[in-house]
Amino acid sequence: MIGFFLQEKMTFAKQARYVLQQLGKMMGVKMIEINDLSERLPLVDALLFYGRSVPTIDVDLPIIYCAQVNYAGAAGLTPHDVRTIVTAQPDLPAKISYLFSSDIPQQQNPLYADEKTLDVMISWSEKKVQCAVDIISTCFYFLSLENERRATDRDVFHRFQRPFSPVGEVVYESPVVDRYAKMLKKLLLQLAPHLQTSPLWPDNKSFALALSHDVDRIPTWTITKMKRVLRADHSPYANALIRTFRLAQSLACPENWLGNFNFISRLEQRFDAASTFFFISRHRHELDPKYKMNSQLIRQGMEIVQKRGCDIGLHGTIPSATESGFLELEKEDLEFFIDKDIPGGRQHYLCYTHDTLQLWQDAKLKYDSTLGFSNHTGYRCGTGFPFQLHDGERPVPLLEIPLILMDTVLLLESKQFLSAAEAWRVIEKHLEETRDNNSLLTINWHSSELHPVDVYGYSLLYSKILGWVQENDGWLASLNQVYDWWTLR
Ligand SMILES: [Zn+2]
Repeated sequence: MIGFFLQEKMTFAKQARYVLQQLGKMMGVKMIEINDLSERLPLVDALLFYGRSVPTIDVDLPIIYCAQVNYAGAAGLTPHDVRTIVTAQPDLPAKISYLFSSDIPQQQNPLYADEKTLDVMISWSEKKVQCAVDIISTCFYFLSLENERRATDRDVFHRFQRPFSPVGEVVYESPVVDRYAKMLKKLLLQLAPHLQTSPLWPDNKSFALALSHDVDRIPTWTITKMKRVLRADHSPYANALIRTFRLAQSLACPENWLGNFNFISRLEQRFDAASTFFFISRHRHELDPKYKMNSQLIRQGMEIVQKRGCDIGLHGTIPSATESGFLELEKEDLEFFIDKDIPGGRQHYLCYTHDTLQLWQDAKLKYDSTLGFSNHTGYRCGTGFPFQLHDGERPVPLLEIPLILMDTVLLLESKQFLSAAEAWRVIEKHLEETRDNNSLLTINWHSSELHPVDVYGYSLLYSKILGWVQENDGWLASLNQVYDWWTLR
């Protein structure tokens, strides 16, 4: 067990407790707050000391000292303030971004240095690690979505997008919080080799992949999509005749008209996996899905996927992200229809504003998986791990399972427009990052993009991801399974 001591009891203490609670779960390490260092300490393996001055106390315990800065500085951060620490130690994250740091004296053994100035930022001795980076403030900035609360621009759907970021876009490319969790855990285990840690994932799997499908359209093919797959430049099939033949085959395949539910759930069953299908229950906006929840086809689709162990989640309509009362009704409809509680959801078009957080709570959702980017892959919350959401003032009773990777981001002409081979290189980077941090990668493959006769390689790509995770000893799970596991452990 790790004891943590907050030197500042009035300023930023609640936020620090919140961050340490999230980091504790991400490390599988039990944390307990220590209020008075002069009293006899409970049985802890090491002490994490967070404050403005290097501790001078004499305790017979390994200590990690983490410098604290004034968090009010978050208001004025610019891209220039995003710095990076680097290390050559092979078992630690090689690079981690930071936003806040302080000048503190360092010890003889350097561990991390600033990439540009080469100033030593983290150093160690036998029983002490000193860290000039304010890890707690940096993590809070990400987990509480400080950056997007400060952004003034929004797109036509009132969404935050990466180019609107006051501190630039590079911060979203790596999971900053996950890398700090990995680093801290390694350092704690070095200082206190007998520290007990709990498994992060079931059966001691080293990382996890959460599978989900937004159900936006029932027939697989549209005219735009047909034109796209017939183009030579993005197809795995060089021969135009083969592309045309495969498209005709796909159009003739009954699954194409039935939502692919049977194909997808069977495919996942082969990998001993299950997924969450997000269904919409009403149509409120012209861009909301148009299928009817009570149609025979949807009814059968829901039955098939549930029979194979998959879950049903709520896909909130576009207006439900901004107008009160809608999401509650949509959730009630879906629950009535499937005669089950719906624990989680994801907004259609990933619509999210500052008000949405309250609307999710009003609808009594237990988890959300909206927080990703609609035009990019990446780490909008600085993490792939599930974490408790925070509105900037206080933690809210809702688990976020952040969305990192979405098929449409990779394949659409209006977004990244990558061939399956190019997309795999992006996907593999996220998979390796997740494995290295023992974290979670949540993906969304739209049910309409996952069909049995694959013309442009994206269905095969999905199987390839599942295969990679199995080969690398990862856990394949639905979002409900992730929610259950994370809240019980
Ligand atoms: Zn959708």
